[in-house]
Amino acid sequence: MSQETRKFEAEVAQVLHLVTHSLYSHKEIFLRELISNASDACDKLRFEAVGKPDLTSDDPELRIQITWDPEARTVSVRDNGIGMSKDEVVANIGTIASSGTRRYLEALSGEQKADARLIGQFGVGFYSAFVVADKVTVITRRAGEPTEAGVRWESDGKGEYTLEDMNVTERGTTVVLHMKADEDEFLKFWTLRAAVTKYSDHVAFPIRMPVEKDGKPDPTDWQTINSASALWSRPKSEITDEEYQNFYKALGHDFNDALAWTHNRVEGSQSFTTLLYVPEQPPFDLMMGGREERKGLKLYIKRVFIMDAAEELLPNYLRFARGVVDADDLPLNVSREILQQNRQLERIKAACTKRVLDLLEKVSRDEPEKFATFLAGFGNTLKEGIVEDTANRDRIAKLLRFASTKGEGAAKTVSFDDYIGRMGEGKDTIWYVTADSYAAAAGSPQLEALKAKGIEVLLMSDRVDEWMLGYLTEYDGKRLRNVAKGEFPLDEADKAKQEAASAEAAPLIERTKSLLGDRVGDVRVSARLTDSPSCLALADFDLAPHLARLLREAGQDVPESKAVLELNPEHPLVKRLAAETDDAKAGDIAGLLLEQAEITAGAQLADPAAFVQRMNRVLLG
Ligand code: ADP
Repeated sequence: MSQETRKFEAEVAQVLHLVTHSLYSHKEIFLRELISNASDACDKLRFEAVGKPDLTSDDPELRIQITWDPEARTVSVRDNGIGMSKDEVVANIGTIASSGTRRYLEALSGEQKADARLIGQFGVGFYSAFVVADKVTVITRRAGEPTEAGVRWESDGKGEYTLEDMNVTERGTTVVLHMKADEDEFLKFWTLRAAVTKYSDHVAFPIRMPVEKDGKPDPTDWQTINSASALWSRPKSEITDEEYQNFYKALGHDFNDALAWTHNRVEGSQSFTTLLYVPEQPPFDLMMGGREERKGLKLYIKRVFIMDAAEELLPNYLRFARGVVDADDLPLNVSREILQQNRQLERIKAACTKRVLDLLEKVSRDEPEKFATFLAGFGNTLKEGIVEDTANRDRIAKLLRFASTKGEGAAKTVSFDDYIGRMGEGKDTIWYVTADSYAAAAGSPQLEALKAKGIEVLLMSDRVDEWMLGYLTEYDGKRLRNVAKGEFPLDEADKAKQEAASAEAAPLIERTKSLLGDRVGDVRVSARLTDSPSCLALADFDLAPHLARLLREAGQDVPESKAVLELNPEHPLVKRLAAETDDAKAGDIAGLLLEQAEITAGAQLADPAAFVQRMNRVLLG
């Protein structure tokens, strides 16, 4: 038998250090994590055994056993699940393969509470053993392999581990924790049992513990201490909120409670159960890596775990949802490829989508504050649905909330329905403005005239907004319009006023056009402005200037489009331009009117130095 000592990857040592320090106030979580791994291992074996019944025939009952030894000061968690080969041990517990964990390390703030929350979101599960143990031994053999293919792994969590070949008679994995000196409480039956009940009652396999006799375990008398029925298969009325929450935490690797959940059984030609949760806080990698590693939505077939199938069960914009889908009639030996083309699964996916949207609607109606928390974390993800899911576009739009000229400052509280409710009779337009910050949106000169008339404007400043609005052109029969785009006569009276003003200002307009030359597409009198001297007006399909700037900064080729410059002839600066006889001076004023319009629109000045020189000349008179 060979024994060797290996070093952990540097990151493992780092994670170990952090886990032990930040989980300090949640010590008993190590049990939840180890039981969750044991349960996954049983799930995996049950699934493999569908095609190879021999794997389990010698010991068919999958189970988890927990015991303690007060003299040796150990706690062990054993499962007769899939087990690990030597290579798997090295790959799974000697390295940190997941890019999520690497990102986790990068995200650490040094603040213990925040860090502990992050750890929960990553499920660095196994390492939590070192919170309470100063040495951990793993003895494992993969199901189907011969006895001598067993492995013994051991580490004190300080940078190295030993690996040894070993005869292991029973398949599966035993994790032995050598408890730290001050962790006596876990060497007691009741502490262990209470923690198991609290965190792992829902586990679908029996969890057994020996009964206690004189403070010691009685190895001849094992009792099942959990309900051992899959939580989702129990009737709703018998499940407490706490059980739902504990199940969520184990499933979603989250420390926080779920925001809400929905549990349903569909009976019929195709029967299935769904239990879907919406988290409170985004997992750390939702926006960044979330697309590659969508975890936390598990597909079962008649209580047999099949695979993580988030992509097959929910559209991408609902990727924050966690949960379980248990179908009665799918073929058990499905592969991912088969799943993707399965018509039944399409129906299940549509049902899950509907359930999550129903749930969000309910929360938005009944618990607006909770819903605001949800939107703060997931609002932008949800907006992707406007583009991705045309069938549910209206339902998704109904859930969105925005800042508004009639809202509460920067808080995003106004829905399209709120807007329509107060827009007044006979109105058919929902006005909005986009910018790259709330302040820039709220200060847009383009919305001055609407504001003066008491017309509400939604203030959109999330990056996805502009893209989303390209697909959302109406809501509930009302047209969505960007205040910065297109022509702008509001009603007949305005139109007449505008025509009169344009006629009067015709010489000024012509002169400004010739002064600015090809820097502008056109110049005209504005119907949008009341306070500012100038603004840009875009054509319907023009890219918003702030977005064009972002895309250019990101290295993209964005076609130059020349905006229309609109002037407010009532403004003193514009009057000064009209009265200026010196062409050079008039050129400076016209240039500044264009440049300030560009700045408020979030565009990038083509020639900042020229702008500064112009401004200085005008300031100095
Ligand atoms: P996670 O469970 O989030 O993947 P862990 O650090 O808890 O992270 O475990 C890492 C991997 O080690 C698991 O994904 C699994 O492949 C393997 N593993 C852990 N515990 C067991 C076990 N009891 N039986 C079989 N494999 C296990």
